[in-house]
Amino acid sequence: DMTLPVQTVRTTCPYCGVGCGVTATVRPGTVPIIAGDAAHGANRGRLCVKGAALGETLDLDGRLLHPVVREHGAMRRASWDEALDRVAGGFASIVAEHGPDAVALYVSGQLLTEDYYVANKFMKGYVGSANIDTNSRLCMSSSVAGHKRAFGEDLVPGCYEDFELADMVVLVGSNTAWCHPTLFGRILRAREARPQLRVVVIDPRRTATCESADLHLPIKPGTDVWLFNGLLSYLAKHGHGDAAYVAAHTEGFDAALAAADADCSDPAQVARICRIDQGKLLAFYEGFAATSRVVTAYSQGVNQSSSGTDKVNAIVNCHLLTGRIGRPGMGPFSLTGQPNAMGGREVGGLANMLAAHMDLDKESQREAVRSFWESPRIAAKPGLKAVDLFRAVEEGTVKAVWIIATNPLVSLPDADQVRRALDKCALVVVSDIVGATDTTAYADVLLPALGWGEKDGTVTNSERCISRQRAFLPAPGEARADWWAVCEVARRMGFTGFDFEGAQAIFDEHARLSSWRNGVHEAGRRVFDLSGMTGMDRQAYDALEPIQWPVLRDTDGAVTPTPRLFADGRFAHANGRARFVATAPRAPVHAVDGEFPLALNTGRLRDQWHTMTRTGKSARLAGHTPEPFIDLHPNDALLYGVREGELARLTSRWGAMVARVTHGGGIARGSVFAPIHWSGQTASDARVGALVNPVVDPVSGEPEFKHTPVRVEPF
Ligand code: SF4
Repeated sequence: DMTLPVQTVRTTCPYCGVGCGVTATVRPGTVPIIAGDAAHGANRGRLCVKGAALGETLDLDGRLLHPVVREHGAMRRASWDEALDRVAGGFASIVAEHGPDAVALYVSGQLLTEDYYVANKFMKGYVGSANIDTNSRLCMSSSVAGHKRAFGEDLVPGCYEDFELADMVVLVGSNTAWCHPTLFGRILRAREARPQLRVVVIDPRRTATCESADLHLPIKPGTDVWLFNGLLSYLAKHGHGDAAYVAAHTEGFDAALAAADADCSDPAQVARICRIDQGKLLAFYEGFAATSRVVTAYSQGVNQSSSGTDKVNAIVNCHLLTGRIGRPGMGPFSLTGQPNAMGGREVGGLANMLAAHMDLDKESQREAVRSFWESPRIAAKPGLKAVDLFRAVEEGTVKAVWIIATNPLVSLPDADQVRRALDKCALVVVSDIVGATDTTAYADVLLPALGWGEKDGTVTNSERCISRQRAFLPAPGEARADWWAVCEVARRMGFTGFDFEGAQAIFDEHARLSSWRNGVHEAGRRVFDLSGMTGMDRQAYDALEPIQWPVLRDTDGAVTPTPRLFADGRFAHANGRARFVATAPRAPVHAVDGEFPLALNTGRLRDQWHTMTRTGKSARLAGHTPEPFIDLHPNDALLYGVREGELARLTSRWGAMVARVTHGGGIARGSVFAPIHWSGQTASDARVGALVNPVVDPVSGEPEFKHTPVRVEPF
């Protein structure tokens, strides 16, 4: 009906961490038209295929539209009151009998900051346990830990513009072309305008990103620390360090250099260990040494490793030695996977963090958060990280778990262990927008959540930019916001402090907490500070433009965002100095052997997102790669008797999957690649998570998704 009003709403893409602005043009009764938002600084109007297909994924097919509870083994529809009473009653009685650490929340980088804030407040300040972890543990926690070690706080120094101002962009363990496509487009357009910009890709696979690289180093999986320790050693030996910067703004250089020199001072040996051509290695080292404007961006190839945190610090060390941080066109840069991995970190969504970047292990900061909340208690020790959390569920020490907006039966490593855990768990609550996922099948209570286009709040992207996700569709059925469900359970458990009228009230509390007693108890100030964003009314919150934190307000009331941190050489450690971290290279925990001779690497495809509950709805997106696959080198296929186009079984110590063999991905001998997206709910059940190594990084707790010993055989 052409007479109905047309409304255009500005919002943010819910897929990757680039955080592109999109516009949704809605005419009641028709499919919303999605376009890039030209006014958003992240993408300036451009979208990748996933973002452009958002309109095709908004139908209500398969949606969970009302609460469901299990009764005598069968699922039946329930009212919100009944379902919430059941969750609150179950949590309360388990806490009363077994203590607060017997319950847990497992949440998601798909949540809005406001949902995340409330969930964290509920667990840490009221239940009194830090047993709240998130699927960001699987994604970014090594970067979080690396940032905290080097900078004193979980801080990304630079911004996207730095990729355009750089003369060298180094992409480590990142298929940026597929996983952060609009940012990759910005790099390529910058290179067209300034051909001196060189792109170096460090990745064991020859990915789509490598096609556009000036130099590709196909390193042996897991050898990144050798490579960057070698670079540190090379820079120091050849006089490329910035001694004045190191002396004025850092500490720990000598120990870091000694650790690097111990194994990595000879480029010929580093080239052998990393299994790359020595000429290429030296071309990278010389190029890095000779170029002052270098951005080194890293993603899951770095993070998802049993030495992920050391990999991050080995990279950061090279930027500290050369003083290339906090200035235009240079710096280390963590590319986040999910749309709101950053927002979750800001509100303390990880089991070892407190809200507003405060530390669980500092008494004064625990007390600061508790006093702000006026809560009866505050978690006193770190909670269980994702992999350990589901182990504790299987062991029975955690007896109730509430899973929000994630599908751990598909996405966690050793995913069959998660199945065993949920099968034994006394109370499994799942909040989701989809009725039937691998995980919802194990729920005792299912709570219908709002999806993208229906929910309202904020997200933070990889460059610390806070953007609004705005609703442009009505809530379907009885679906409600996740923050609302958590508040309702909290109230039913007798907790005060959960009377929020809406997302804006929650954001305001979050912004006020960020500057609460900042600098009073510690020598240094926390950098994460939203004091310039407090006091917004509904209207101001609804009109909020994308803005990069910290956001401060000066005495005249002027608000300043911060595109770059550390420009003044001051870091967040109490003494203001950045820290070099001595990193000793070590191989992945499980080596390949005669029984499991190949190293499995996992990752995303260009056109799918996570477990396909949304992107799987678009026929156009499915057209790119219609089914799961096992990609390996043709010679390995020959050796193990499997053939291109035929089904093969991939088996690890932990599980198995079946998929068709391909040779398309430029895989080196000895490696295999399989995508992460397929689940038991898709036509071909190929849950690669069932195979993945549950070994984790000792500092960050992030699992080793990029290195699982496997064997392949005909199916
Ligand atoms: Fe969405 Fe990421 Fe694509 Fe941007 S690049 S449209 S945020 S998936």
